Amino acid sequence: MRVFQGKAGDMVALTNILPPLRKMKSRRLRTRLQALILLAAVPSALSIVYFGIDSYQVEVDRNSAETRRITSQLVATQHGLIADTESFLRKLSLSEAVQDPTDQKCGAFLPQVLQLSHIYQNLGAPRWDGELLCNALPLREPVNVSDRPYFRRAMDKEVFSVGTFQTDRATGLTSVNFAHPIIPEGQKDPIGAVVAVLGLDWWSTHLMRETLPEGAVATITDRESRIVAVHPPDPTALGQSLVGHGRLAGGTVVSDGAVVEGEDGVRRVVSRRILFEDGEGQPIQVSLGLPVEEALKQARMTVFWRLLALCSLVAIFSGLALRMLEKQVLQPLGALNRAIQGFEKGKVDEQLFDQKGARISDFENISNSFRRMSHARLTAETLEAERRRQLQALLQALPDTYFRLSNDGTILEYKASNEQELLMPPEMFLGRRVADILPVDALSLYEANVKRFRETNEAVTWEYQLEINAVQIDFEARLQAIPGSNEMVLVVRNISEVKRAREKILLQARTDFLTRLPNRASLTAETEAASFAARELGQALVLMFVDLDGLKKVNDRMGHATGDGLLKLVAQRLRSCLSDTDFVARHAGDEFVILLRGETALERADKVSQRVLNTMQRPFEIGGEKISIAASIGIAHSPTDASTPQALLSAADQAMYLAKGEGGGRIRYYTPEIGNRNAHRLRMLDDLHRALEFDEFDLHYQPIINLQTGQVVLAEALLRWNHPEFGLLTPDRFLPFAEEAGLMVELGDTGLRRACRDLTDFRDRFGTGFQICVNHSPTELSAREHGHGLDWARYIKENTPHDASILIEITEAALLDPTPFTLASLKAFRESGIEVALDDFGAGYSSLIYFLNNEFDYLKIDREFAQNAPESVRATGLCETILGLSQRLGSKAIAEGIEREAQLRFFQQRGCTLGQGFLFSKALSKDDFMALPQKIELVTA
Ligand code: C2E
Ligand code: CA
Ligand code: CA
Repeated sequence: MRVFQGKAGDMVALTNILPPLRKMKSRRLRTRLQALILLAAVPSALSIVYFGIDSYQVEVDRNSAETRRITSQLVATQHGLIADTESFLRKLSLSEAVQDPTDQKCGAFLPQVLQLSHIYQNLGAPRWDGELLCNALPLREPVNVSDRPYFRRAMDKEVFSVGTFQTDRATGLTSVNFAHPIIPEGQKDPIGAVVAVLGLDWWSTHLMRETLPEGAVATITDRESRIVAVHPPDPTALGQSLVGHGRLAGGTVVSDGAVVEGEDGVRRVVSRRILFEDGEGQPIQVSLGLPVEEALKQARMTVFWRLLALCSLVAIFSGLALRMLEKQVLQPLGALNRAIQGFEKGKVDEQLFDQKGARISDFENISNSFRRMSHARLTAETLEAERRRQLQALLQALPDTYFRLSNDGTILEYKASNEQELLMPPEMFLGRRVADILPVDALSLYEANVKRFRETNEAVTWEYQLEINAVQIDFEARLQAIPGSNEMVLVVRNISEVKRAREKILLQARTDFLTRLPNRASLTAETEAASFAARELGQALVLMFVDLDGLKKVNDRMGHATGDGLLKLVAQRLRSCLSDTDFVARHAGDEFVILLRGETALERADKVSQRVLNTMQRPFEIGGEKISIAASIGIAHSPTDASTPQALLSAADQAMYLAKGEGGGRIRYYTPEIGNRNAHRLRMLDDLHRALEFDEFDLHYQPIINLQTGQVVLAEALLRWNHPEFGLLTPDRFLPFAEEAGLMVELGDTGLRRACRDLTDFRDRFGTGFQICVNHSPTELSAREHGHGLDWARYIKENTPHDASILIEITEAALLDPTPFTLASLKAFRESGIEVALDDFGAGYSSLIYFLNNEFDYLKIDREFAQNAPESVRATGLCETILGLSQRLGSKAIAEGIEREAQLRFFQQRGCTLGQGFLFSKALSKDDFMALPQKIELVTA
């Protein structure tokens, strides 16, 4: 169906869009997560950089600290040198030999002192005017040092003073000179000074002795910043200004701890200390430059390795994180993705989430939920698909054409079962409105039903016809809402066949299958229609009720097939008696009804009914046999006899009943009197039921006596009805109705029960040989054939002292056309020892043959003969014959209806032993009967 296809289509479209979308998202997710990890690594990287810079700085700081430490050491030793020199010169200035520098002693003393010192290159003691007269080393020419600043300071300030780089005038060596004033005791002013010459080469060599790290550069500068000692030794550097000195360039300007790159391209940390200060000009300074390149390189390497290590760690951990990300997030995500894709194709991949590394509870939860969800969803979808397939199969299997319509009746979808039945090729339906397709007649029906559908909101069904390819096709349409949408379903079915079948069934339902005449249902409808039409036109409607006389006999004698054949012929003859406007139907069994319509109906009634009567009297020939029957016809007409169709039928029926009652083969018109009689009949029928219920029946007994002795030997049980209104009724007043009401069996059984009950008392009174005769009617016999009522033979056996106590009277009429059951019943009675009397013998039926074939214990000579004997010769003859016959066959004869003594004598003389009649007694109630003498006095001739 489209409904579903549409949805499926949407899904396909969605999945077409989804994968790229998902890929995009996934890629972004991946890069994002990677970026996230990298972002997480940034602080580490930054701290590594910071740490690198820091450790580099630490290295630098360590170097400068080292420099400072070594410098301090250097200062300490060099300071010791200067302090030692000061102390040495002070002591020397106090020595006696130098108190007078002009003295020879001085000149002899100083060389000795110099001999002892390995530090100084020369010792001298210039006089106050600078004239060097006393000197440790011999002077080649006179030397005056008065211009030397260190001398001047010593002399003027009377302090130990340190000179600057100079070329010693006495030795010609580059040196730094130290001076200490000589102030003899008691004198105020110095008379000269002692001077120690420190050779710069020595100083540099002395510097060398210091253990300095490799590549270290050390200088000592004078107050004019000229180099006075240098390490490693470099004679050319001596006397040079430190500023100009290549390796520690920038000397004075450079702050302590600065890194300076020397001319040799080596960078060094430089540290400076003041070695000696005398408050004038620049002090003597020690500078130490320690190469930092190596250390920095070291630091850089350390930093580099550390960075490398950290970067590696970051990389490893990032890698691990990525791997974990890949395994624990992206792979499960990928699996989820594949599961979703698989799910879209209708599969649930159970293994997808069972992969290693996907043991994250969130994913497990997601996967479990997804699995559950997809299972549920797939189950639902499978069910839905199954349902859809079933529906599809159902739709395919159904012979209907199906349309799905939008709210305005536009065809959205169709399923055509047979394209031959469509107004146009089905594909042209799509997008069209049903209203635009249907031809006028069908359209108006469609629109009316759509309106009805909208009003009631319930499914509507209607039928319509279309001419397709010149063939009229009947359709049934059903319009129904699709729940949950405003769409509708229109199902169209070709019902041509159904309609034809329906019409056929209808026809069959209204036709009597045997005679092909309309049946009772059709009759009812037709009578109603005709009645209505007649009333409208102010015309009479004549209804004839035709009942066949003797069909039952034909059935019984010649079989039902013959009976059926007869009915067919009767139907044909009936039809032939009528004009086209007349109507004849089979009412039931052997009853037919004729309707005469039109202006002349009443006038024609006589003629037509007579014609029917005549035609029925003509013998019918079936299977070579001629069959004669007759018909009883009752006629009624509206509006005179009845105002409703039912009343009309009933009136005709009553008239027919009368005709039948009068012997059949005649026509009777309905009269109000018939109506009254019928009313009585209906009342009696009604009363009979009640009478049985309230036990209104009584059994009277008529004695049957021994005609010779007058002894009461038998009693005939005769029914009486104590009617509450009509009083005591004899059987002829109610038995016909009981027969009509089908109550004969019940009545008979009531009689038998009563007789059996009364029997004991009678036997007590009249002797043990006393018998009661109970009448058993032919209708009773046939009813018992169908299983109704008591089983008499058994009942008698069980309820009487001996079987012969009850005698059963069966009329000769019952044996006219005995059924096998009748004969079997007779046989059964006789076999169980029950005696049977043949009642009303000789009443006109030629049943001698049966009499001869069946044994009867008694023969009851019909009242008519008894009453006519002895006057009537014929009756007398017949009675004599019967009596002779009975004697021959061993049956006892009972003469009925003996009213006069002549009759009694007649039978007495002819040896008839038993008789009954008003001469002796009429039927009496039980009590009256009991009051009878055992012997009735006979009037004898
Ligand atoms: P039926 O079997 O021939 O019974 C005898 C009828 O003759 C009785 O009429 C009786 O009263 C009458 N009858 C007797 N003696 C005379 C007489 O001297 N002169 C005249 N004119 N009649 C006499 P009842 O009681 O009216 O019964 C009429 C019929 O009803 C019976 O004729 C019998 O065929 C039937 N009937 C009566 N009781 C029953 C019954 O319990 N079951 C059946 N199936 N039929 C019964
Ligand atoms: Ca009888
Ligand atoms: Ca009788």
